[in-house]
Amino acid sequence: MFDRNTIKYLSEIETPFYYYNTNLLHETLFAIQEAADLFGYHLHYAIKANANPRILQIISKHNLGADCVSGNEIKAAIENGFDSNKIVFAGVGKTDKEIEYAIKQNIFCFNCESIQELEVINSIAQKYNTKQRVALRINPDINANTHKHITTGLKTNKFGISFYDFKTIIKNINNYNNITINGLHFHIGSQITDLSVFAKLCEIVNETYSYAISNNLTINHINLGGGLGINYNKPENHIPSFQAYFKIFNTNLNIPDRVQIHFEPGRSIVGQCGCLITKVLYVKENDERKTIIVDAGLTELLRPALYQSFHKIINLRYSKNEENCRYDIAGPICETSDYFGKSVSLPETERGHFLAIYSVGAYGEVMSSQYNLRNPALKYFSDDLIEKDTQLENEAVSKICSFS
Ligand SMILES: *Cc1c(COP(=O)(O)O)cnc(C)c1O
Repeated sequence: MFDRNTIKYLSEIETPFYYYNTNLLHETLFAIQEAADLFGYHLHYAIKANANPRILQIISKHNLGADCVSGNEIKAAIENGFDSNKIVFAGVGKTDKEIEYAIKQNIFCFNCESIQELEVINSIAQKYNTKQRVALRINPDINANTHKHITTGLKTNKFGISFYDFKTIIKNINNYNNITINGLHFHIGSQITDLSVFAKLCEIVNETYSYAISNNLTINHINLGGGLGINYNKPENHIPSFQAYFKIFNTNLNIPDRVQIHFEPGRSIVGQCGCLITKVLYVKENDERKTIIVDAGLTELLRPALYQSFHKIINLRYSKNEENCRYDIAGPICETSDYFGKSVSLPETERGHFLAIYSVGAYGEVMSSQYNLRNPALKYFSDDLIEKDTQLENEAVSKICSFS
């Protein structure tokens, strides 16, 4: 796939590095915005998927709001162009300091996850003599049919308020003088590819909404979270079917038009726009297993070690990915789980070759660490390279972005 000159150019960049295709990010943002506009839905990008400032600036320029799960994420959102009145703040463990900070920024709303948190928000809002907008994050007890570590809407998970506690809150609503509860929030998990799960969620949303209004709670907005999955097996299918996704909600929700509907997509926006480029250090052979040791590790991409996730990997040396060998692909970190794949089909691979690991835009760079005292990996953006406008760099860009 790469000619000699390109390889030479790449070999002068220190590996491993993240490579972001900003054109693809723009295309994905146009696609999701267009689909959301069809139904009048509001979008908050889930910052935790990728908080790189350049990425945040691109997304905020497309006028999305932000979904934050920490005080620092709120700060990053504001610093990178998001309107504070389009910020929502979720998370089971908001500290007093974070709550204070969010109140001072006058964010759109808190997505509150417990009765105790509601009381803390109320008392801090009282101290600042304000009335804080709050949505209750309801735990709908739904199995999202995804990996158990990224399921969040089961009653055994730590997230959200149970229906029982929801009733208690409604009963005691007059205790909360410095809070306006005017929203409902749901987020049932991540990398959801079985879309029928969202139809099931709609049923529970409809029931919860009916219960709320029949108990004199005025609901202005309902936030249905994120969770739409991407195709890790076929990263060349760049853009998820946003329209099909929103249509499920449009078909199954039974909520009056005056109630705003919000979503918090993360992975589906940024997942496919990033890849991780790594160099082969060694090829080890023993007991008929061949193991490629690369210079990236779980410090740059934790997902395979954390949830046994699959990422497509190709060898950039070849124009056609003839998959005639099988390799385990491991990083250099002193952890047995530090693998990017087992028994991966690749062409004959040698020391010095470059591998591209795809679909790293979401939960890649944000989860990186300096474990083993590693240097932070560098980041390259396609528009930077194009701006410089040298033949060689353009070639490198188009080749990293394209698929054989
Ligand atoms: C993680 C998270 C999201 C985004 O999930 P994706 O699967 O990346 O779309 C949205 N809302 C909340 C509350 C989250 O915790």
